[in-house]
Amino acid sequence: MAQARQPHDLLAASSVRPSPHWPDAAKALYGPARMSAQRALIAEEVMAFPGAFTAEDLHRTVGRRAEGVGLATVYRALAAMQEAGAIASVGERDGSALLARCGRDDHHHHLVCTTCGTVVGVECPLDHAALAAATREGHLVTSHEITLYGVCAVCRDQKDAG
Ligand SMILES: [Zn+2]
Ligand SMILES: [Zn+2]
Ligand SMILES: [Zn+2]
Repeated sequence: MAQARQPHDLLAASSVRPSPHWPDAAKALYGPARMSAQRALIAEEVMAFPGAFTAEDLHRTVGRRAEGVGLATVYRALAAMQEAGAIASVGERDGSALLARCGRDDHHHHLVCTTCGTVVGVECPLDHAALAAATREGHLVTSHEITLYGVCAVCRDQKDAG
């Protein structure tokens, strides 16, 4: 079917698709990275996690709301959020990185509750004395990762009550 011809400027204007307005909170997680409807949904699900989650956890919750969002898409979205500093790797579970939103940008470590996933930032337990063993071995330590896993106070209370 032939379309009615339009004046040139009208045609140009109508071909400009309105840019979608993603929620600011979702957009903020990606920094300057590209947004899409799937990424907005993924961000909403990230914000819904009270504590730590893996890419697989997130893929599962996103899958409850939308079909066809691949694990690779979730990985790429998470990488963009990490790049933007909105989420951090706080440990691991079953070989997958545990991720969480963390507002701190100073050097710190995390307590992760293995029951509810709550994440708490804690001061670095390493000092010069702790690094002395590495120094004696002739190693120059350039970075370290420490995550403390356990059961949080709320989960412990519930266990006692139950
Ligand atoms: Zn943190
Ligand atoms: Zn807990
Ligand atoms: Zn440290």
